[in-house]
Amino acid sequence: MGTKKNGLELYLHIPFCIKKCDYCDFLSGPSTRAGQEAYIYALLREMETVSKNLKKRPVDTVFIGGGTPSVPECDVMEKLLQGLRDYFLFSADAEVTIEANPGTLTPEKLSIYRKYGINRISIGLQSPNNKELAMLGRIHNYAQFLESFQMAREAGFSNINVDLMFAIPGQCYEGWIENLRMVAALGPEHISAYSLIIEEGTPFSRKKLDLPDEDTEYRMYEDVAVVLKEYGYHQYEISNYAKAGCECRHNEGYWQRKDYLGLGLGAASLLGKERFSNTSDMQEYLKNSSAPEKIRKNRELLTREDEMAEFMFLGLRMTQGVSKKEFQEYFGTVIENIYGEVLKKYKKQGLLLEESGRIFLSREGVHVSNAVMADFLL
Ligand code: SF4
Repeated sequence: MGTKKNGLELYLHIPFCIKKCDYCDFLSGPSTRAGQEAYIYALLREMETVSKNLKKRPVDTVFIGGGTPSVPECDVMEKLLQGLRDYFLFSADAEVTIEANPGTLTPEKLSIYRKYGINRISIGLQSPNNKELAMLGRIHNYAQFLESFQMAREAGFSNINVDLMFAIPGQCYEGWIENLRMVAALGPEHISAYSLIIEEGTPFSRKKLDLPDEDTEYRMYEDVAVVLKEYGYHQYEISNYAKAGCECRHNEGYWQRKDYLGLGLGAASLLGKERFSNTSDMQEYLKNSSAPEKIRKNRELLTREDEMAEFMFLGLRMTQGVSKKEFQEYFGTVIENIYGEVLKKYKKQGLLLEESGRIFLSREGVHVSNAVMADFLL
């Protein structure tokens, strides 16, 4: 972990959605077909330019996220996927994920994804309860999700993630557990379960919402791992659960600080010691995507201290935590020399544990993870 290997992770941002959900503050929105085409061409220009310097680096994982990457029609998407294959060199066992939403998938789209080597699909369900879906402002119902899930299986997807959300307005503990069981019973390989966060500027931030209280939310989170274990999933990160061997390698790479190139509007990157993100201004992106130096913003060269802090707070997101040996190999000093006091404090409070040379959050620690991780900033 933290060490820089030759492999590269790619993220492609597709900022289109049929309609905005009421809680969403992602960089996404409705668009015309012409708008989508113009964007995909701009993305291809960016890919062509940046790939020239990266030709020899095998791409280990790709994540096509959004937005809703399943919105663009087959011919538009095919151009993008062909470009991805032409410009980059893929590892033989590359993990290639696409995000999709129920109500936007068709067998034709799925077969194009398969044709270009997409081998993992992440479906945004959020809830199998139609009332909750309507409350969230989602465009689909549960029946449409079931249809999409089935279609994906029939198209040959044997690695499917389902996104679920808890602490939805009006939701009780029992309702959430029922949702979880319904989805786990379908047997996707991976489940992400996030609590609803009310983001500023969204319709939800202006509404009076009947949110579950803190204790209920605590129990909702705490029991996800317990319930999902019954169905053969293990928790490997704060919000992520997988069947054995089906952990998302792309996300693991991000938490392990692998080199990560974000392409498209607003996409963030970590290359070597530099972090930056692309402009979130669509016009600027469309105009300048073939000149990466013009669209890359917030460029920051990480200091050794920044890298140490990232190593800790990203690594601690994973249930396996961080390796003391890897810290020492990468930074040339033992972890206690840098974080001795903080580690001692949280171990004493029972929020951090140490076992077989790894340091990780305890169950109690996971609930206050933000506060613990903030303490690793130098
Ligand atoms: S589908 Fe996803 S990205 Fe699009 S508006 Fe809804 S939450 Fe946001």
